[in-house]
Amino acid sequence: MMRQLITILGSTGSIGSSSLDVISQHPERFEIFALSANLQYQTLANQCLKFNPCYAVVMIPEVANQLKQLLQSKGSKTQVLCGPEDLNHVAQEPAVDTVIAGIVGAVGLRATLAAVESGKKVLLANKESLVMAGNLFKQAVARSGCTLLPIDSEHNGIFQCLPDNFKIGCNETVIKLTLPASGGPFLGWKEKQMRDVTPKEACAHPNWQMGRKISVDSATLMNKGLEVIEASLLFEMPADSIEVVIHPQSIVHAFVHFADGSTLAHMGVPDMRVPIAHALAWPRRIKSGVETLDFSVVSNLEFSPPDLENFPCLQLAYDALLSGGDATTILNAANETAVDAFLNSRIKFTQISEIVCDTLTNSVFSPLKTIEEVEASDARARLISSKLIKATAKQ
Ligand code: MG
Repeated sequence: MMRQLITILGSTGSIGSSSLDVISQHPERFEIFALSANLQYQTLANQCLKFNPCYAVVMIPEVANQLKQLLQSKGSKTQVLCGPEDLNHVAQEPAVDTVIAGIVGAVGLRATLAAVESGKKVLLANKESLVMAGNLFKQAVARSGCTLLPIDSEHNGIFQCLPDNFKIGCNETVIKLTLPASGGPFLGWKEKQMRDVTPKEACAHPNWQMGRKISVDSATLMNKGLEVIEASLLFEMPADSIEVVIHPQSIVHAFVHFADGSTLAHMGVPDMRVPIAHALAWPRRIKSGVETLDFSVVSNLEFSPPDLENFPCLQLAYDALLSGGDATTILNAANETAVDAFLNSRIKFTQISEIVCDTLTNSVFSPLKTIEEVEASDARARLISSKLIKATAKQ
């Protein structure tokens, strides 16, 4: 069997480490070409010693030096690279079959696009790059003929429920998608109760182990909003055909509704190794290390509509999707800036949605034709939201 040669963008985060866990169970199928990280060079060094990639990429020269020393002292042959150009290089290297895009946030856009443009099989966890570049990203996929497989659990679930003959953009049989949301740690709370929650409380997700940014997004429901936009782009479904339902147990990950009244659901233990193993082996199936559902433990599955009044971020995402142009780019940039400010205790939890809303109100939406325009729109929105945060913090 030919082994799949893999680059992981963001290997020390939750997606990266789950991916390496699955990969380590199938050494006859998978081989690592390159790993990348931002600051966690010690974790990255341990991964290099275990998987022996050709390259390890970081973003900052000082971090690169520390990683180099550490790897040399252990006799590793992995070469250390540094900076965005090198990250693009390991994403588009001709020998690489598969790129796992696990970097969080807008910083992952260029390298993910580089992988798409060179026609790789791309496992997409970085929803921000899709949300910020929108149709531009989709056009790059269509041009290069790359295989784009979602590993965000909901989108992977939808993908698994779609019929084999499903043609994106020209389906009459699929009429609606439902994305379940756990509701996060503040499910059932009122806005007033959430005003003084701490970053630690907001990051304590009941079902999923995730990084801090996405944990806060789950607590505000912005994560589900970004996922609505992601689903609309991936499956070419209009906003009013994508529904969100609160499902606190996180056992059902997606519903696909068909014209004849059938609804298919994707279920499983909430563990990212499930969608990652699915996408790595697609169209086959391999073991992920996760057990199937045990119905003596899983009993009640609950579903209820989301509370848009106390969790306004979800509505903001729907509105941005309907506005079109670069509204979703602005939404994403403002959210990243506001979440960062909240994590650094500069604004309150409930001010995240206010900053995003005010940034959108202070922006004029225009269509984006190039990646430079995407980055300019992203930078503009970050500037507006940073100013709003400063003004807020002074009060
Ligand atoms: Mg998700």
